[in-house]
Amino acid sequence: MSFSAVNGTLSNLKDCQADIGTGMDIVTDVAMDLVEAQDGEGNPGIKEMEAMILECAKLDREINCFVDIVQQVTAEVTSQQPEAMFTLSARVKEQFTDRMAGLSDAELQNHQKVIAFKDSIRNSLSQASQSAENMEELDEDIAVSQSQVNFICPLTQEEMVNPVKNKKCNHHYDERAIRSMIKTRHGQKKKCRCPVVGCGNTDVKESDLVLDQVFRRKIQARKRQTNKT
Ligand SMILES: [Zn+2]
Repeated sequence: MSFSAVNGTLSNLKDCQADIGTGMDIVTDVAMDLVEAQDGEGNPGIKEMEAMILECAKLDREINCFVDIVQQVTAEVTSQQPEAMFTLSARVKEQFTDRMAGLSDAELQNHQKVIAFKDSIRNSLSQASQSAENMEELDEDIAVSQSQVNFICPLTQEEMVNPVKNKKCNHHYDERAIRSMIKTRHGQKKKCRCPVVGCGNTDVKESDLVLDQVFRRKIQARKRQTNKT
C-alpha cells in the first residue's frame, strides 16, 4: 500500500504551516511599529493585529490536529485489512471534527507565537511610555533650569545647534565653531584655550569633544516650548 499522496499532502500542509508562522512574526513586527509610532493603548490597529494573530494560531492548531490525525489513522489502516483503506478519508474527517469540537479559543492564548506577540507589545508599550515620561521630565527640567542652563555657544554667541561637551572641563560649545577654532589655533602652532570665561582648561583637543545628545534634545525641547508660547 502506498501513501505517497497522503504524505505529499502532509508535506504541503507543513509548508503552509511554516508560512503561517512567518506571517505571525510579520504581524507582530507591524504591531510593534504601530505601538512605537503612536500611543499604543486603545489603538484599534493593535486589536486588529491581535485578532489576526489569534486567527493564525487557530489555523496553525487545526493543521497540527489534522496532520496528527491523518498519521494516526494511516497507521491504523496499514495494520488492518486492505479494505480499511477506503474508510481512511471518512475516519480522518470524523476524528478531526471530534477533536476540533473539544478545543476552546481560550487555549489559543497559550500558543507560543501568541505569547510572543503579547510580550512584544507589552515591552513596546512600556518603552513608549518610558520615553514619553523622559520627555516630560526633560521639559520640566528645562522649565526649572532655563535661567541656569546656558544654550548659548561661548564662541558664536548664538544658540547651539550641535552642542558638544568637553570631557575635560564639561563646557559646551557649538561643534562647528569649536572645531574651526581648534584648527585655527593649531594651524598657528598654538594651544586652544577653552573659550568659557574663567575656565582653566588651556588645551582643548578635538578628541576631548563628545556630541551631547541630551543637551541637544534639551535645546530642541526648549525651542518647542518657545514656539508654543
Ligand atoms: Zn572649559
